[in-house]
Amino acid sequence: MTREPILSNSPVPEEDDPSLRPSRMADMVGQRDVIARLQIAIQAARQRSDVLGHVLFDGPPGLGKTTFAHCIPMEMEVPVDFLSGPSLKAPKDLVPSLTNLQAKQVLFIDEIHRIPKSVEEYLYTAMEDFRIDLILGEGINARTHNMKLQPFTLIGATTRAGMLTGPLRDRFQIREHLEFYNDEDLTEIVRRNASKLNVVISDDAASEVALRSRSTPRVANNRLRWVRDFAQSRAAGEITVEVARAALQMAEIDTLGLDRQDRRYLDTLIRVCMGGPTGIGTIAATMNTVSDTLADEVEPFLLRSELILRTPRGRVATAKAFAHMKHEIPPENGFFS
Ligand code: ADP
Repeated sequence: MTREPILSNSPVPEEDDPSLRPSRMADMVGQRDVIARLQIAIQAARQRSDVLGHVLFDGPPGLGKTTFAHCIPMEMEVPVDFLSGPSLKAPKDLVPSLTNLQAKQVLFIDEIHRIPKSVEEYLYTAMEDFRIDLILGEGINARTHNMKLQPFTLIGATTRAGMLTGPLRDRFQIREHLEFYNDEDLTEIVRRNASKLNVVISDDAASEVALRSRSTPRVANNRLRWVRDFAQSRAAGEITVEVARAALQMAEIDTLGLDRQDRRYLDTLIRVCMGGPTGIGTIAATMNTVSDTLADEVEPFLLRSELILRTPRGRVATAKAFAHMKHEIPPENGFFS
């Protein structure tokens, strides 16, 4: 049997629209404590004409880590260079960015937990002393040159703070954890972004889109764009709550924000496995996919929504999941009976 990765079969586009990204922290919604702390640090650094300390953001995808990495250099009035952790395979991949730094510049490394040990160790002296060792020449003529760098701010972003080593984590002076957004803030993001997309949306429609967006701005943006397209082609262009509901129903996004794949998972666990406890490998095999994909892409939201439990004996569907899937808890259920 071939195992295929789960392909998104939803019509909702997945790319980010740079035009929706706030460019200043004052335009960001939510994350108030994080913004307040950063504004103090930025203001103090600017008053001292100093470089801002290194900043680490952690939190699930789509909550604003990259957005902060755009806003901070804007507020510091310095340039920024964007790098991605997986593309840094060896120290030499860092050298062009480090040697071309301008004073107080920001260097952003996304998915910083994925840099190899050698790159991480190379970053230590760059971060701490603003110095790096460069190897000049080759073979017996090779010599090491200790080069001074411009003082810079490293902004690291990670979805897996636990995978960062202690020494790297400790080199960030500012560490911020981004939380999921409450319904009110997410509704405000939908409202603002509808206006950026030049589409009229009613308040109850904005709230409907937000409620089905998993407390995550990126998801809200994607769903809003789909609802906008739907309104344009199937309605008069305006997003009323009826239009929003019809669009989301067509995209198979339900009232809890679950998509087709989430419901397939729940259906497998509830109907086929009678609610569990069932090993993730069994669920994956039944869905013709791989456990890692389920664990990384499907289960986090189901766990957060209290629809499944991860027990030592396997995955279990909760009473809420049975109710949501409109399924009775069978007498054979190994967890509730
Ligand atoms: P991450 O880097 O954490 O994966 P991003 O910063 O790329 O997430 O955020 C995805 C999108 O969500 C952004 O393009 C932006 O439009 C929106 N967004 C994120 N955080 C906020 C916020 N606090 N206020 C308004 N929009 C936001």
